[in-house]
Amino acid sequence: MPLDYLHTNRTGTDFPLEKIDSLTTTKKWVRIRHTVDIIPRLIPTNPDIPTNPDIDVKRLQHLIRRGERIQFQLHLASSLLIITLFIAAAMPGLSSAQNSDENPALVTAIRAGHMINVETGESLANQIILIEDGLITATGSNVQIPTGAEIIDLSDSYVLPGLIDAHTHLAMTEMPGADINDHGTYYYTTLLEPTAFRAIQGVAQARSLLESGFTWVRDVGNSALYADIALRRGIEGGWIPGPNMIASGIIIAPFGGQFQMQPEKPELGNPEYIYADTEDEIRLAVRKNIHFGATVIKLVTDNQPYIYSIEDIAAAVDEAGDVGIRVAAHASSDEGIRRATLGGVVSIEHGTRPTDETLRLMKEHGTVLVGTDFPATRNGESRHAALVERIRRAYDIGTPMAFGSDVEYYREGWTRGELTLEFLDSYTDAGLPNDYILKMFTMFAADVMGVNSGRLKAGVAADIVAVDENPLDDINAIRAVHFVMKDGRVYKRDGHFEWSTPRVMNNPRRKPQRQ
Ligand SMILES: [Zn+2]
Repeated sequence: MPLDYLHTNRTGTDFPLEKIDSLTTTKKWVRIRHTVDIIPRLIPTNPDIPTNPDIDVKRLQHLIRRGERIQFQLHLASSLLIITLFIAAAMPGLSSAQNSDENPALVTAIRAGHMINVETGESLANQIILIEDGLITATGSNVQIPTGAEIIDLSDSYVLPGLIDAHTHLAMTEMPGADINDHGTYYYTTLLEPTAFRAIQGVAQARSLLESGFTWVRDVGNSALYADIALRRGIEGGWIPGPNMIASGIIIAPFGGQFQMQPEKPELGNPEYIYADTEDEIRLAVRKNIHFGATVIKLVTDNQPYIYSIEDIAAAVDEAGDVGIRVAAHASSDEGIRRATLGGVVSIEHGTRPTDETLRLMKEHGTVLVGTDFPATRNGESRHAALVERIRRAYDIGTPMAFGSDVEYYREGWTRGELTLEFLDSYTDAGLPNDYILKMFTMFAADVMGVNSGRLKAGVAADIVAVDENPLDDINAIRAVHFVMKDGRVYKRDGHFEWSTPRVMNNPRRKPQRQ
């Protein structure tokens, strides 16, 4: 019987195949590098028997990413190992008719009737997009489709990069209700819902966002005790469907976090916030978050009467930057925005009330405004109008902007993805050009997060969606994504979400590794 795992009797260790990053063979060794154990393991092979030439690491990785079920059999001969590779039947729907199960396609080719180049703001007709190993390898009208490639026909569609929300709270869902209106339901969510349930909420919301075409998000806290990190691991490990995530862990803030507390209960802000009031406390808080798996740091700089100094913010930026992690700062007031910009953060979250001078300062420093520009349905007409005016000023001044929603609420009849796309209203109300809005939702958001996505060109991750109408003519076309690919894997086709009980699961590390 074929085995789902690579067994080695020598070490008594099983190697789940999805953890294998590379597998090379020589006459003497099988070298296995896998994600749990960064150090390669060397397993001796029989020097007299040549190792199986069919083992092709690239091909294995490709098949694993596609969700193919790959099986190894080990033959033990006189206590010496030789490995034979079998490829079991592909999962339903993944193999095209052109490919036999014995030889699944290494390359996927998308026939795009129209491909949006978000960098130039052009729609190009009849393009081929080649995908291999989760990456785009070529685009163009004269690209040759290799023999045996799996072909995805989107010749009736407009194909564009996967959408990105640079400010989400997947593990928070504020439920409205007449019985819980004291201080708003935000408090009640943090006080009443335990981390485990918050993570489960995150599972549902992550799927919703992927279904709506979001292939990356940056999750910026309010996740109780690291529900966001658990969620990210679940998605990365193939347990649940969702966008790729950059996640902050716990929000770092001066005493009180974003709460207004009473003296008898000063700790009510825990665990939603880490209170950090000195430079040392800020550095320690950054380290704690990174230790528990954060891949971005979120500061709330000005939600209390006392606000972080430039030096406070710079300390967080320095501490996080030492391991290549960026800092996003919640800042609403002009002074808060100014200090966070000078402190070196990558982005200002909300940025509600900047003067023109401060918007110019942001431009000068390349600090990105992630405006969380709520639609009027959420914010009311007058606050919405103020945001629209601020969007327009920032655009005219040339302050860099990326899309971030801040949706953490529920509305009956709507999915989280639909609520997120409702924010398009704010940018169309501000009169922003469609090609610029599309950049905010793709490449600009990818850049603020530092991820290789948001563009359709060779070398970029194959995060690709498709819609029926041209978003450069009407940006609202992106509210109806009917095809979703993330890292080269299809999650939605012809408007139907595709998710089967996974046969390949992983347990990715929660901590980034210093190289
Ligand atoms: Zn937020």
